[in-house]
Amino acid sequence: MEYTLIAEAYEKMEETTKRTDLTAYLVELFKATPLKILDKVIYLTQGKLYPDYMGVEIGVADKLALRTLANITGLTAEQVEEYYKQKGDIGIVAQDLLTNKKQQTLFSEPLTVERVYTTLEKIAKTTGSGSLDLRLAHLQSLLNDATPLEAKYLMRTVTGRLRLGVADYTVLDALAIAFTGNKENRIHLERAYNISSDLGAVAKTVAEEGLEGILRFRIQVGKPVRPMLAERLESAEAIVEKMGGECAIEYKLDGERLQIHKLGEKVELFSRRLENITTHYPDAISLVKRHIKAKEAILDGEAVAINEETGEYLPFQEIMHRRRKYGIEEAMRQYPISLNLFDILYLEGEDLTQKPYLERRKILEKVTEKTERITVIPAIITADSAKIEEFMQQAILDGCEGIVAKDLKSSYRAGAREFSWIKLKREYKSELQDTIDLVIVGAFYGKGKRAGRYGTFLLAAYDKEEDVFKTATKIGTGFTDEDLVRFPEILQPYMIPNKHARVESKIEADVWFTPKVVIEVIASEVTLSPVHTCAMNIIRKGAGLALRFPKYTGRLRDDKAPEDATTVQEIVELYKAQLKKIVEQ
Ligand code: ATP
Repeated sequence: MEYTLIAEAYEKMEETTKRTDLTAYLVELFKATPLKILDKVIYLTQGKLYPDYMGVEIGVADKLALRTLANITGLTAEQVEEYYKQKGDIGIVAQDLLTNKKQQTLFSEPLTVERVYTTLEKIAKTTGSGSLDLRLAHLQSLLNDATPLEAKYLMRTVTGRLRLGVADYTVLDALAIAFTGNKENRIHLERAYNISSDLGAVAKTVAEEGLEGILRFRIQVGKPVRPMLAERLESAEAIVEKMGGECAIEYKLDGERLQIHKLGEKVELFSRRLENITTHYPDAISLVKRHIKAKEAILDGEAVAINEETGEYLPFQEIMHRRRKYGIEEAMRQYPISLNLFDILYLEGEDLTQKPYLERRKILEKVTEKTERITVIPAIITADSAKIEEFMQQAILDGCEGIVAKDLKSSYRAGAREFSWIKLKREYKSELQDTIDLVIVGAFYGKGKRAGRYGTFLLAAYDKEEDVFKTATKIGTGFTDEDLVRFPEILQPYMIPNKHARVESKIEADVWFTPKVVIEVIASEVTLSPVHTCAMNIIRKGAGLALRFPKYTGRLRDDKAPEDATTVQEIVELYKAQLKKIVEQ
């Protein structure tokens, strides 16, 4: 398949913001794609080579990309860099320079998708010292044969800037239309995606075996299941009312979520964002090997840092020390953990996700040999809000964040945030709102003590419907001196010359970033704001919603992707809940 077909499709996609158009272009592209490479085309269209959980990034730095362009155009690196500064978009730079290039390569061969993909794979896999020249040579070979339009998208792809706004759900819609002729079938495809986290595999299955194949799609050990998440409510009474009778109340531990895949002696761990974090927890692995009485299983649980002497749970910050590549043995001794299981999704070849909570919990109890280090999370079953309150107080005393209420009859709803699980956290009880996770999209230089550094940051919430980030506050409080040194370092790789295409802001920041870094903040209230774009025109025309008196809690949420940040929709709900509270007072 010729890469031009893809580049032309991207060009059309880029020009539209309408989801229906985007879907139609995808349908056209998928239909024109040979079955054999359908998965590859899908990964490429999302700027990737594999599903996210494989953790492979193409990761070509701007400098190398610009050097390659200099090589093939005969310009100097400085000239190319200067032009990039003017344009601020590496794709446009490549397109323009190739258009102006006088001398065409004599025997240029049209680029095929297969060749682009394998070359990008080589680039991604060539790492380590001395790899730069090799990466450059691979990229150069592609650019030599590329048309200006192809070069535009190749450059954006290799530097991680291909942002066509193609959300997972848009791909699923397009697949349903292209291969089953009916968009309604998306729900079946969505389930297959939720239990495999692999759009490419879903695409191949539906293209080769149709809806039947999708209905046969099963959980597989080794492929992470998208996690079930909790909605929130503000009181035990509200929970009882929503659940409409008895429900389970479990401790909400504050650690790191682990999805555990066991296949014989092989155990793999996936984070909440489905990264493979097997190497972070050798102790958890050995606990699973010794105390889970099953050959094959997928378990869901929370690893929590503990005080070895007292068995007490420790705060979240402690377990974050385990998120490192080196010195794991030492970290393991310094920051011991306990493994607290709360669900089982799969056992000895059987998919358990469709079974009700209560049944899954019984199975979980059966396969877990409890010790001081591995256990099933404490739970009670009740329909009494006073009992819930009491259990909540105990949970807080024991060092938990709060409780999670669970519908006894609910299946495991992979990838869903619904009211089958409801969280109640301590913060709701105070004047303050719940903590909120926002994405850093820009920064402003500081004054006085912060002169020459960033003084404040521009934060955004995620708009799930539009797949963009909308500003919700400027924040300068709560950062220690150490944070002020550390944040520029953390943000440096994401610095970009102009506002990111997926960021909506009326405020002009001094420095802009690709939305990547998520931080946790608290605030006194949500208030109407003429300048912030979060929920613009939703509550009142001409006004958005913003956080008043925001403060950084000291918690960098590097376990969350930017799309996992608090959503605009959630902030609207917080605003409404707050209004209700004021009215009730
Ligand atoms: P938060 O910022 O509150 O952790 P979140 O967006 O990460 O929220 P939620 O769906 O709000 O996720 O809350 C569920 C999270 O709580 C899970 O991802 C898990 O890490 C943690 N957790 C702790 N105890 C439990 C439990 N008993 N059942 C389910 N999740 C639990």
